Amino acid sequence: MNYDVIIIGAGPGGIFAAYELLQQKPGLKIAVFEAGHALGKRSCPIDGDRIKSCVGCKSCSIMSGFGGAGAFSDGKYNITNDFGGTLYEHIGKKKALDLMRYVDEINLKYGGEGTKLYTTAGTRFKTLCVQNDLHLLDASVRHLGTDINYIVLENLYAYLENKVEFFFDTPVRSIRVAEGCYTVRCDGGEYTCGKCIVSVGRSGSKWMEQICRELDIPTKSNRVDIGVRVELPANVFAHLTDELYESKIVYRTEKYGDKVRTFCMNPKGAVVNENTNGIITVNGHSYKDPALQTENTNFALLVSKHFSEPFKDSNGYGESIARLSNMLGGGVIVQRFGDLIRGRRSTADRIEEAFITPTLQATPGDLSLVLPKRILDGIIEMIYALDKVAPGTANEDTLLYGVEVKFYNMEVSVSEHLESRYSGLYIIGDGSGITHSLSHASASGVYVARDIVKRQKD
Ligand SMILES: Cc1cc2nc3c(=O)[nH]c(=O)nc-3n(C[C@H](O)[C@H](O)[C@H](O)COP(=O)(O)OP(=O)(O)OC[C@H]3O[C@@H](n4cnc5c(N)ncnc54)[C@H](O)[C@@H]3O)c2cc1C
Repeated sequence: MNYDVIIIGAGPGGIFAAYELLQQKPGLKIAVFEAGHALGKRSCPIDGDRIKSCVGCKSCSIMSGFGGAGAFSDGKYNITNDFGGTLYEHIGKKKALDLMRYVDEINLKYGGEGTKLYTTAGTRFKTLCVQNDLHLLDASVRHLGTDINYIVLENLYAYLENKVEFFFDTPVRSIRVAEGCYTVRCDGGEYTCGKCIVSVGRSGSKWMEQICRELDIPTKSNRVDIGVRVELPANVFAHLTDELYESKIVYRTEKYGDKVRTFCMNPKGAVVNENTNGIITVNGHSYKDPALQTENTNFALLVSKHFSEPFKDSNGYGESIARLSNMLGGGVIVQRFGDLIRGRRSTADRIEEAFITPTLQATPGDLSLVLPKRILDGIIEMIYALDKVAPGTANEDTLLYGVEVKFYNMEVSVSEHLESRYSGLYIIGDGSGITHSLSHASASGVYVARDIVKRQKD
């Protein structure tokens, strides 16, 4: 056996699994295989000047490499069972929260000290929201910010690098199951291990599907969330973001009874491109450092689509909509809310004349040509509802970028140990379809690490 444990993927799930294995049993021989680059080598060529849009790098530095999809994220660690995944369905609500708090402690220890923990507990906004038919979800959120999040990752890597064998730029091609061991095959060779933790995240979703097919591991299709990223002057939402930083607000539309929710709020942040399997969608982040902050706040408004039989490909549906926006806009489309309501496209002149400066260079256009009517109607309804708790949301100049799509991996069938039908083959993090966030993915890593060591002792 080459290793006691092989971890596939060095995102938060894989990193916290490695970290916790070392805490529980320092002598373990561990290898981490990562398709992307080491942290210091991760760099997206888009500079907004010479290279304005995605050039389709072989390994996308935004999604892959040490730190995973979370490396350049806003570093918002939400400590809650209300959103961010359904880990609690497998391990219980208390355990899930305890592990998220533990992850928070580690983040503080490795560079996050001094960052703020926001909480919805006892906030007056809950009442204000409910009076306006909006529902504020309960959570505590540690906001590391993109800059501190990066420092935490650097420090975690410094701790791990001499204790764990890292293989960067090394995608795992296949996993073979043999009696009591697993063989992991990469382009450069094969490696065996007693336990294998698969933590391949969103970018590894297609590969995960292939592995589940090859090893006959049951899966079920998940949902897709489709919507837009809203950008407005930071003072419109300042009363909410100053106190809560991120507010997850849910609205049920009058027209269809669909739920629309806010997602990934970035006070004084920037809107950014995201590349998923070559499709350009939109996302956002913000910095802790005031020098890097902008005058705008951005957040997503998303509508979840679940499909029933016979249609299973919810991600394919989301991809098609994102492709349509890429076809019309050559990437992400931006439209003023006022133009959308008047049924006209935004033009470069109309964007230029607006009282807000976009933080992402996107193509002015018409989102109604891209988004399905039902989804667009829901988003418009929610913007008017939010205008009641944050007046100014429904202003003419509010910018809508499309499309934002949250893809979810199909859900892999795992036990309460997060173990597949093969003993010792664990599937964790976003790649399992069970988690969709930094804190849940990290918590799942800690959970399986403890499980592996505990069951070895038993
Ligand atoms: C721009 C952006 C901002 C975000 N902001 C937030 C936020 O503020 N808060 C939050 O909670 N969540 C946020 N998220 C989501 C969050 O990053 C993910 O939920 C989290 O990173 C999932 O962790 P993970 O370890 O499961 O997977 P990932 O972080 O996706 O890591 C998986 C790793 O596996 C590697 N991999 C894939 N396939 C293979 C293979 N075959 N062989 C070897 N390696 C492989 C990938 O290269 C990747 O590095 C954001 C995501 C993005 C893209």
